[in-house]
Amino acid sequence: MKFAGAHVSIAGGVENAPLNAAAIGATAFAMFTKNQRQWNAAPITEASAAAFRENCKKFGYTPDHILPHDGYLINMGNPDPEKRKISVAAFTDEMYRCQFLGLKLLNLHPGSHLKQISEEECLSHIAAGINSALAETEGVVAVLENTAGQGSNLGFTFQQLADIMEQIKDPARVGVCIDTCHSFAAGYDFSTPEGYEKTMEEFDRVIGFKYLRGMHLNDAKGVLSGRLDRHDSLGKGNIGMEAFRRIMQDPRIRDIPLILETPDEAIWKEEIATLLSFAKEA
Ligand SMILES: [Zn+2]
Ligand SMILES: [Zn+2]
Repeated sequence: MKFAGAHVSIAGGVENAPLNAAAIGATAFAMFTKNQRQWNAAPITEASAAAFRENCKKFGYTPDHILPHDGYLINMGNPDPEKRKISVAAFTDEMYRCQFLGLKLLNLHPGSHLKQISEEECLSHIAAGINSALAETEGVVAVLENTAGQGSNLGFTFQQLADIMEQIKDPARVGVCIDTCHSFAAGYDFSTPEGYEKTMEEFDRVIGFKYLRGMHLNDAKGVLSGRLDRHDSLGKGNIGMEAFRRIMQDPRIRDIPLILETPDEAIWKEEIATLLSFAKEA
């Protein structure tokens, strides 16, 4: 079955995320568990966590279809050991926040080498950071998101993600989230039937569908291989609506959260309805 939604707001408390998701007809959702632009946040209160779980139950959201996203400041590939330590601590805290909420997944951006160390070294730092966070938490899967390869961000090829995953001590606690906009920007052509098949076949060969724990469905403002991380509404960018129909009808993609991070929140409800209608056609 297909589960689709959007990255919704937690303004007023995490317990509002499921309400915001339900209001747009979502059957899955993504959220931050704290302000994504700040290092520190107060712990989630027991009352807030209980309300979150209750609201999820009320609207039928299970932890398999909720994909929290980590904060934007975290870079576990940072060449500076002190800064890397701060990032690993922040990521560990985010894993713990997910655990506290009863969630199972945490979507992260792998990290950046800042042009100071090799790709290989950076990928090893990222893996070490994830291993450290996994050792201090329980039950939450670190879900690596592929990137557009903007700046010195790594994780823009499936092989780079596989190189990180290979170094994770507990393979059951690592997964991948494919962002269609990032993939397209990094050179994976989602826009044609042949390009789609080639991309998915490569994904299966290099990583494996069993590790696919979520997808971000975004059209792309930039061109193929342009390395530009600029999302567009479905059907309005260079990927085009047919790609999203293919995803919603692909039997290899099932029971994972399919999340919009498209720029026009006002049409999320419509976009979700369109996606779910594609799944029904299949
Ligand atoms: Zn992301
Ligand atoms: Zn994304």
